[in-house]
Amino acid sequence: LPKDHISHYDLNKLTATKDGLNKKEEVLILTPMSKFVPEYWENINKLLYDHALLSLGFIFPRTSEGDKAMKDLENAIKTTPGAAKYKKITLLRQDTESLEDQSEKERHALKVQKQRRSMMALARNSLVFSTISPSTSWVLWMDADIVESPTTLIQDMMKHDKPIVSANVYQRFINAETKKPDIRPYDFNNWVESEEGLKLAETLKDDEIIVEGYSELATYRPLMAHFYDPKGDLHTEMPLDGVGGGALLVKADVHRDGAMFPSFPFYHLIETEGFAKMAKRLGYSIVGLPNYLVYHYNE
Ligand code: GDP
Ligand code: MN
Repeated sequence: LPKDHISHYDLNKLTATKDGLNKKEEVLILTPMSKFVPEYWENINKLLYDHALLSLGFIFPRTSEGDKAMKDLENAIKTTPGAAKYKKITLLRQDTESLEDQSEKERHALKVQKQRRSMMALARNSLVFSTISPSTSWVLWMDADIVESPTTLIQDMMKHDKPIVSANVYQRFINAETKKPDIRPYDFNNWVESEEGLKLAETLKDDEIIVEGYSELATYRPLMAHFYDPKGDLHTEMPLDGVGGGALLVKADVHRDGAMFPSFPFYHLIETEGFAKMAKRLGYSIVGLPNYLVYHYNE
């Protein structure tokens, strides 16, 4: 046998602690990417975690839009001197289907949600199962259109020492009334389950799903997006039952234990919201950080 042909890893010694950087814990940053947004890439490169401990993984839809995103990212990587410092960068092209029309109006229409979100779930599963390694301590899910976050995002989220931590995704815009720059909630997938939500689920057929943020499916769930308090403590926690994938830090063991993104209705939930349910069924807790904002691109 060639030397090093047998690799040993003691998963019991692999830690995911609040002191991850000092303990040299590796983080795998995962991004499904239908479009390359330069500000996303700049933001990732500004993260202050030791880049030698960071691996990046991307998955692209097999559409012309996906091909372009992959080329744009490759160019950006090649022209970013610091990119050589990352432990590893993996680019995957999906083997599953995607929606062709990805305009904001189209992709947010309720009727396409089940199909779109279940395709997204398959893409996220391919991405994590193809890139997680025996030395991965943490997985940071970052959507490709998160264009701004604190540079200490990883350490800040690790500090909570929770199996799953979700940041609050907001968006910058120009307020039409004040004509001034303002911010507004963007991601409504971070939520707390409600009586109404549970009752609504009971009325559904096996193959029907609830997606949060649609008035047609009124759940009255408390949404983390609405709990932002600019004067509050940055590190305030709230327990969550559903999460989005915008900026989500997961201890790698949660995925290793089998928590994935259901592409099928799981307790009437799919994708990231189904992932939260599955992680909870596996016994893990989830917290959201209502006052810790990251910003979504404004199309
Ligand atoms: P929204 O912000 O909730 O409207 O969702 P997005 O359309 O931004 O999708 C979430 C993430 O998945 C973003 O990082 C997108 O770039 C990416 N994405 C969207 N559609 C696809 C797809 O079909 N395949 C892959 N691989 N990524 C996708
Ligand atoms: Mn988005």
